[in-house]
Amino acid sequence: MDDLLAFDRAHIWHPYASVAKPPPVRLVKEAHGVNLVLHDGSTLVDAVSSWWCVAHGHSHPHIVEAMRRQAERLSHVMFGGLTHEPAIALAERLVQFTPPGLDRVFFADSGSISVEVAAKMAVQYQHARGFPRKGKLVALLGGYHGDTCCAMALSDPDGMHTLFRSIMPQHYFADPLDFSSLARVVEEQGDEIAGVICEPYFQAANAMRFYSPDYLRQMRALCDEKGILLIFDEIASGFHRTGPLWAHERAGIAPDIMCVGKALTGGHVTLAATIASARVAETISAGSPGAFMHGPTYMANPIACAAGLASLDLFAQADYAAAVARIEGELREGLAPCRAMPNVADVRVSGAVGVVEVKTALPAQADIDRVITRHGVWLRPFSRYIYTMPPLVSDTVTVTRIAEAIRELAACPAGPVPEGDFHE
Ligand code: PLP
Repeated sequence: MDDLLAFDRAHIWHPYASVAKPPPVRLVKEAHGVNLVLHDGSTLVDAVSSWWCVAHGHSHPHIVEAMRRQAERLSHVMFGGLTHEPAIALAERLVQFTPPGLDRVFFADSGSISVEVAAKMAVQYQHARGFPRKGKLVALLGGYHGDTCCAMALSDPDGMHTLFRSIMPQHYFADPLDFSSLARVVEEQGDEIAGVICEPYFQAANAMRFYSPDYLRQMRALCDEKGILLIFDEIASGFHRTGPLWAHERAGIAPDIMCVGKALTGGHVTLAATIASARVAETISAGSPGAFMHGPTYMANPIACAAGLASLDLFAQADYAAAVARIEGELREGLAPCRAMPNVADVRVSGAVGVVEVKTALPAQADIDRVITRHGVWLRPFSRYIYTMPPLVSDTVTVTRIAEAIRELAACPAGPVPEGDFHE
């Protein structure tokens, strides 16, 4: 085990990590249900759902079996000029799962790529309608849409991506807490704007906060009035994370384009999709060059599609809305005492998301590591947020244990203020 960790330290680049001062990493041997099994045999509850994708628990037998069967028959084939059953069946299911009218599925290989695809669709749509100058989007302050260039450019402009400004396209931003700021940008820059993109209701990786569904309703009306597209990134908020299947259901409206990913495969393998309305797809296809210009090598990988299909079976069978309502109640109760702690600025809970925002800085890494080991709960606080987004299959004992660990961590004194504002 020490040899493996030594090699990892010497040769592997982990996300948001320095190679000069590599942070400690834990060696995971296997994972089942809500638990990670470490190499020394100890277990940790995955309170982060491995960056919020493990909805049904790790190594779910139904998904694993579907992937195994698919790998034996057809593990990959290019999607240009060829198609296959897993992609067709998954697209059929996605069309059923998503709001009426969203019926053109473009498979992408990660959430970030699905956002790039959505942005390109919006620009190509306006181009096809005879508005070639409409090449920009409006996004929300505090948002996060991924780490690739276009996705970074649509994320909070003062967040962790500022270093890369020189290689990012420039877009416009509005405040999710003040709709008039969005109306103003669209009014003033309307000639350039192809569409509006947001994480509906729940801003995850940058701000860990919720905002009013009313804002989404007003957004829909504004987009209709101005002839611009509404894009919802449900990659984090979708698949019951905040309660309803899609977070935007709270607003009773639907987008023109929607991105899904993460829990789509139940966290078993990477896959995302950008799902567009017939109007968007047909307009793009009627314009020049007569085709939508995107096509990744691993587009609609059959094993990933089989995992997605099996995951959607589970979403259809289980009553996750009820499970998430229970988890919400348990998190509310379990995290409430944090409000009285000296370093706590706010406690927010909605659905299976619980956030404790600290005032100055997170506790020191040594305190974080101690709490993780003592409680057997894997937490990955970032920026000023100690949070949990547990697997949707977490039972009461598991959620209670997570809340205990968060309470202990939130009670620790603030550690040193970090140099950068690190993500996730
Ligand atoms: N959009 C949202 C809302 C996300 O939370 C994330 C990831 O955290 C992404 C996009 C990017 O997804 P991926 O990491 O699969 O590229």
